[in-house]
Amino acid sequence: MRNTHATQLIFELSTQGRTGVRLPDCDVPEQSIQQLLPDNLLQADSPTLPEVTEPEVIRHFTNLSTLNMSVDTHYYPLGSCTMKYNPKRNERIAAWDGFAQLHPYQSEASIQGMLQLLFELQQMLGEISGLPAVSLQPAAGAHGELAALMVAAAYFKGRGETRTKVLAPDSAHGTNPASARMAGFDFVTIKSKDDGRVDLDHLREHLGSDTAVFMITNPSTLGLFDDQVQEISDMVHDQGGLIYLDGANMNAILGIARPGDFGADMMHFNPHKTFSGPHGGGGPGAGPICVTDSLGPYLPSPTVSFCEQSQSYFLDAGDGQSIGRVRSFFGNVGVLVRAYCYIRTHGPDGLRRVSETAVLNANYLLSQVKDFLHVPHGDRCMHEFVASAAPVKEATGLKQPAMDIAKRLLDYGFHPPTVYFPLTVPEGMMMEPTETESKQTLDAFADVLKTIVNESAETLEHAPHSTAIRRPDEVTAARQPIVKWTEATD
Ligand SMILES: *Cc1c(COP(=O)(O)O)cnc(C)c1O
Repeated sequence: MRNTHATQLIFELSTQGRTGVRLPDCDVPEQSIQQLLPDNLLQADSPTLPEVTEPEVIRHFTNLSTLNMSVDTHYYPLGSCTMKYNPKRNERIAAWDGFAQLHPYQSEASIQGMLQLLFELQQMLGEISGLPAVSLQPAAGAHGELAALMVAAAYFKGRGETRTKVLAPDSAHGTNPASARMAGFDFVTIKSKDDGRVDLDHLREHLGSDTAVFMITNPSTLGLFDDQVQEISDMVHDQGGLIYLDGANMNAILGIARPGDFGADMMHFNPHKTFSGPHGGGGPGAGPICVTDSLGPYLPSPTVSFCEQSQSYFLDAGDGQSIGRVRSFFGNVGVLVRAYCYIRTHGPDGLRRVSETAVLNANYLLSQVKDFLHVPHGDRCMHEFVASAAPVKEATGLKQPAMDIAKRLLDYGFHPPTVYFPLTVPEGMMMEPTETESKQTLDAFADVLKTIVNESAETLEHAPHSTAIRRPDEVTAARQPIVKWTEATD
């Protein structure tokens, strides 16, 4: 079934003199390129380009695209990343000329429809989060974290306070410490207790007048809602600090709990997770941030406002306290259009059902998986849970069974779950079915997982057995990718 064609480089398909186009004869006097361009803009040699026919190009890239997995082709239980189905209706609407062909330098008067959409999205996100001041600018969740921490820094500066520390639990996503550092803060890791909740004693030890922000992911990446969150926010607020909610897991609590109501002062959304935007190679994300009214003036500018007098929408530069732009123009607008469609399609009661179904699906999968893998944090979860393949390590002697199982899943046509995150669970496998999967799919996945867990160490260790690329060196691939063809790689 695999097409070996697709594993060749397009350069390897090249035949000298072959082409996919035929140009008409030139009907103006010919001039050499040297006469038209200055020497410093000219290359000494022609670029090495593949010479192929049109069908060869089409087949090459179409076949390449089938070597990958996607939510459109496979079940994709990637915990924390929320790989939910991307409704095609959203794609179609985002591609409408009236949205896709706008130029960001057009006059405000000529983009009233887009501004209205962005304005309403700000309002909807403000309502869903319980945090009314919104900026749509940040380009991803991590960027939202950074922007919000810059807002916090500006807020404290405005109050004449020096606060140097950002705290977050050990189950936090790696972007939390990275954002804290980039925003100029020192970062402190707070321990979790065995039950996965924040260790309040450890938090108390580190809280002080130098605490700027406590970042919490709730529900956490363990798929647990930390019911101490109100107490935590009181503790942090008592010290004059702010609470940041990492909103990557909002898929679990839409229409059920609002971060602003349980003590958060700032948060980001990941529309490419929670609101069905494509991501993971499928497109860029976005990271809108929502904050309390008192932090609002510091948000990145411009935001979109409505002028009652002229009955029109406009880009609002704010009152001079804004931290300024964090992204060119209005952010990744295409993703925001999709988020808008998703939210409007479901409506308030529909969003609540999304979360209820996501949580139900995760618990259903958990109820099966706990029979053959260890699930350290109990019998119930929110939208995701983390199983541990540590028992497989004991039984088989495999060094990294979570990785081996993940690779083996590819042979059975399933995308693996998130592995080795959070770091607090040994041989962790974080599974998030999402609300869009059927019982049959979840049953099939659980069956396969059970089969794999009982396979021989030999089979697991060398998996995957059926993919074009088997075990790439992931670190080198990420750090030193070869993106340019040279004769040497031939
Ligand atoms: C995905 C994720 C982020 C980062 O969001 P990006 O949009 O990928 O930058 C932060 N925290 C958690 C818990 C996440 O799952």
